[in-house]
Amino acid sequence: MYILLMGPPGAGKGTQAALLVEKFSIPHISTGDMFRAAVKEGTELGREAKKYMDAGELVPDEVTIGIVKEGLSKPNCKEGFILDGFPRTLEQAEALDKTLDDMGIKLTRVVNIFVPAEELVSRITGRRICKSCGATYHIAYNPSAQPGKCDKCNGELYQRNDDQEDTVKNRLDVYRAQTEPLIQYYKQQNVYSEIDGRQDIDKVFADVVTGIRGENS
Ligand code: ADP
Ligand code: ADP
Ligand code: ZN
Repeated sequence: MYILLMGPPGAGKGTQAALLVEKFSIPHISTGDMFRAAVKEGTELGREAKKYMDAGELVPDEVTIGIVKEGLSKPNCKEGFILDGFPRTLEQAEALDKTLDDMGIKLTRVVNIFVPAEELVSRITGRRICKSCGATYHIAYNPSAQPGKCDKCNGELYQRNDDQEDTVKNRLDVYRAQTEPLIQYYKQQNVYSEIDGRQDIDKVFADVVTGIRGENS
C-alpha cells in the first residue's frame, strides 16, 4: 500500500499517519520529521533546512527530493509507505512519479485531509510535540493526561519554533500558492480522495481508511 497524505499545515496528517502506521505496519516518511531530526543533530542539512523552516518557507526542492529518494531507497519501503508532507510542489510531485516509476511502484491513493484555513491557526498554535518520541498533542483538542508530559513515554512536550502565529500565516500562504495546485495533478491521475478533517480524530481516521480504498473519491 503506497499512500500519500496531503493537506494544509495543521490538517492532521501526522496524527493520521501515526494511526495508519499502527494499523498497517508500514513505514511513515515525513519530510518535516526528517528535517527536524537533522536540525536536532546539528548536521549541515539541518542548518540549511532550519533557515527555511523558521521563516515558514519551503526547503528547496533539490534538497527535499534528495532526502525523500534516500528514504524510499530503504528496503522496507518496497512493501508500502505513508508519505506525509511530500510532495509540496509540482517539481517534487514529478520527481516522486519518476522515482516510483524506477521502483516499479504506483501510488495506491492520495488522501487529502481538508480543513478550512480559519481552523488551522488554532490547531497549529495549540500543537505540542513530545521531545522524546515525537507524539503529537493539542492543548485543547487532544491534550495529554498530565500537562506538558507525553502519555506514551512521559517525555517533555514542546512547541515547535515554526508553530507561532506570525510564521503560521506565511506557511498557509505558501501552501495555497505551491501545494494546493497538486490536488488537480492527482485528480488527473485518478488516485485522489478528499476527506473532511474537521471531525474527531477517530472519525477522520475511519474516513482516511475508506479513502485509501478509493470508496469516497
Ligand atoms: P499536520 O501534520 O497536518 O501538520 P498534526 O497531525 O500535527 O497536523 O495536527 C495539528 C494539530 O491539530 C495537533 O495539535 C493535533 O493534535 C491536532 N489535531 C489533529 N487532528 C485533529 C482533529 N481531527 N481535530 C482536532 N484537532 C486535531
Ligand atoms: P506542517 O504539516 O505543520 O506544515 P511539516 O512538519 O510537514 O509541517 O513541515 C515543517 C516545515 O518543514 C515546512 O514548513 C517546511 O519548511 C519544511 N518542509 C517539510 N516538508 C517539505 C517539503 N516537502 N518541501 C519543502 N519543505 C518542506
Ligand atoms: Zn513521548
